[in-house]
Amino acid sequence: MPSTDRILDNALEAVGNTPLIRLDKIARHHGLKCNLLGKVEYMSAGGSVKDRIAKRMVEVAEKEGKLIPGKSVVIEPTSGNTGIGLALACAIKVLLSTTLVGYSVIITLPAKMSLEKETSLRALGAEVVRTPTEAAWDSPESHLGVAQKLAREIPHGIILDQYRNVNNPLAHEYTTGPEIIEAVVSTPSTTERPSSGKVDVFIAGAGTGGTVTGVSRALKKTHNEPCVVVGIDPEGSILAYPDSLNDAHKGSFYAVEGIGYDFIPAVLSREVADVDSWIKTTDDEAFSAARSLMRDEGLLVGGSSGSALAGALKWFDTAQGKTTAQTEGTNVVILLPDGIRNYMSKPWFLRMAMEAEPSPLARDIARIMANS
Ligand code: PMP
Repeated sequence: MPSTDRILDNALEAVGNTPLIRLDKIARHHGLKCNLLGKVEYMSAGGSVKDRIAKRMVEVAEKEGKLIPGKSVVIEPTSGNTGIGLALACAIKVLLSTTLVGYSVIITLPAKMSLEKETSLRALGAEVVRTPTEAAWDSPESHLGVAQKLAREIPHGIILDQYRNVNNPLAHEYTTGPEIIEAVVSTPSTTERPSSGKVDVFIAGAGTGGTVTGVSRALKKTHNEPCVVVGIDPEGSILAYPDSLNDAHKGSFYAVEGIGYDFIPAVLSREVADVDSWIKTTDDEAFSAARSLMRDEGLLVGGSSGSALAGALKWFDTAQGKTTAQTEGTNVVILLPDGIRNYMSKPWFLRMAMEAEPSPLARDIARIMANS
C-alpha cells in the first residue's frame, strides 16, 4: 500500500514501499538494451533494506510473547543496518507500549563498520559494543560471540538472530519481492519503453542472504519461475557458490560493508533453485559503480549498492547475461540496499567526493576567486 495517501501511525509504517527507478544513463553508457532498474532501499524509514526484517522480527516476536515490554533487552550482532532498523522499531515501541516502557537495544558491531552507523544507533537510543573485525565468526570476540555472551548475562536479553530467523527471508518474500513484481507488472509496455511485463533478472548482494533468498522465492514461486537470480559476494568472503569462486581471495579484507561473511548464514539458500549464479566483486569496482549511481543517476547510495551494480555489469559479460543485455524489454532489477548517509566519513567516499579531478567549472571558480 502506498504510504503517501493517508496519515501514518508512526515511522514503522514508512518502512519499505521503496521506488523502483530506471537506471537509463548507466544502461546507455554500457550499451545495454534491457531495462536496468534499481530498487532504492535508502528511502525506507531507517535508511536501508534491513528495516523490513527488523520490523518483522520484532512484530512476530511480540506476537509470540518473546518480547516483554519494560523487560526485554534486544541484542543483535549486525553490520549496522539491521541494528538501526531494530533500534528504530524499539524506539517506537516505547511510545506505543501501554506501560510506556518498551525494549532496550544493544548492538554488537564489528570495528570496520562506519562511525555513521554507530552514531545513528546511539541517536535512536541503542547501546553499541564494537568487536574486532578480524575475529572469526565462531570466536568469543566476534560480534556474534559477544552478542551471545551479553544475552547469557543480561536478564531478559534476547537475540532475534537475523542469521537464523525465518522472518528475515520472509520479510523479503512478503514485501520486497511483491513490491518489485507490482511495479514491473503495473508499468505498461510502450514503443519508447518496451517491457516483457515480468521481472526477468534479479541481482542482489548477500550478507545474511535474506534479501536474495526471500526475493528469489517471491519471484520464482509467485511470478516468473524461470527468473534468473544472481547473488553478489565480495572478494574475501565465502558466500558465493560453487565454493571454488571464493578460493582465490578467501579471508582477505574488503572495505564494503554489509555483504560477505566468513560463514554461511542459515537463512542464505545457496540452492541453485533459489540463486542461479554468483559473481564476485572488488572494492574498487564497487566504489566506482557507487560513484556512477550518484553522478549519473542522482542516487545517493552506499558501497554495497555499488557492488550490486558492479556485479550486474560483470554478469552482463557472461553468456547468459550478454543475451539478456541485448534483449529489449527484458527487466533486470538490481537491489540497492542503503544510502551514503551511512558512509559520509569513509575514506573511499571522501576520496570520491573531495579529491576528484577538478572539473573545468571548478578551475573557473578557482580563477574567479583568486582574482577577487
Ligand atoms: N548491503 C548492506 C549495506 C547491508 O547492511 C546488508 C545487510 N547486512 C546487505 C547489503 C545484505 O543484505 P542481506 O543481509 O539481506 O543479505
